[in-house]
Amino acid sequence: MDLALLEQRLNDRAQPRYRAAQVWEWAARGTAGYEEMTNVPAALRSALADEVPFSTLEVAAQSEARDGTVKTLFRTHDGHSVEAVLMRYRDGRRSICVSSQSGCPLTCTFCATGAMRFGRNLTASEILDQALHFRRIEALDHCVFMGMGEPMLNLDGVLEAARRLPDLGITHRRTTISTVGWLPGLTRFVDEVEEPIRLALSLHAPEDALRSGLMPVNERYPLAEVLAECRRYFALRRRKVFVEYVMLAGVNDRVEQARQLAELLDRRVFKVNLIPYNPTGAFEGSSRRAIDAFKSVLDRAGVPATVRLTRGRDIEAACGQLAASRDAAAA
Ligand code: SF4
Repeated sequence: MDLALLEQRLNDRAQPRYRAAQVWEWAARGTAGYEEMTNVPAALRSALADEVPFSTLEVAAQSEARDGTVKTLFRTHDGHSVEAVLMRYRDGRRSICVSSQSGCPLTCTFCATGAMRFGRNLTASEILDQALHFRRIEALDHCVFMGMGEPMLNLDGVLEAARRLPDLGITHRRTTISTVGWLPGLTRFVDEVEEPIRLALSLHAPEDALRSGLMPVNERYPLAEVLAECRRYFALRRRKVFVEYVMLAGVNDRVEQARQLAELLDRRVFKVNLIPYNPTGAFEGSSRRAIDAFKSVLDRAGVPATVRLTRGRDIEAACGQLAASRDAAAA
């Protein structure tokens, strides 16, 4: 729902100030449409239905994986494709992964989104509408900004959306914003965000040469500068930084590289998430054995590390697989 347009239309009708909050509360609770908002006058409900679309996004396609993961392809009013994912875990957690941009300008070599044409930054309402779509399916408790796009390139939109997530039942402590190390946005995030929103760094290599080969952003903002900013976040906020490390066979998964990584990361500050890679063309994923060997090095060095559960692989909803390519081509 375009919240600025909603306010404007309510002002045009000289509605009381609380009305926008009332409508938002209904939407955030997973209401399916204006008609269910019983404490809003009926005439106003029907006027709003005509003038303020209930969502800024249209659902273009939706699929469900064998493990219950749901991937939705949305279309913006101006034809851009956006994907988001709902992950269902056995312990009952319901986590969504939302996009901050349509496509991404940063072209990381292992990422399907990076290979897609960049569209534009999404508005805060377009980001929230991804979450609201899943909220209408079921109650949610976690959100990661790890879908399409680099959140720090669209920090205002991302923060405006993130700040409203508690109304949907997703607390700040269960909200994570991820970055590949876009320093201007990261610095602002560290300085300005006082809510306990979590920070994740997509690292993927323990040294600059390899990282620059995988992620061109590293040439602009090298590892040392990015890690220094993460340490500053920890010093100011006392919250650990999650390090995402996608496991690429023969590229970044050797035991020596695990040692390099352990040396790079202060165990008090960082927690590593090893991500089994979902092939998108250019690379092979590491074997389970290689992942286990890599993790043991980190374990021995005392660097907290886990291996991420892969969700939704059969519907290309897993990490690095969001591309909307076929559908974008058809748009
Ligand atoms: S990994 Fe993230 S920053 Fe890199 S191309 Fe993909 S979406 Fe963009």
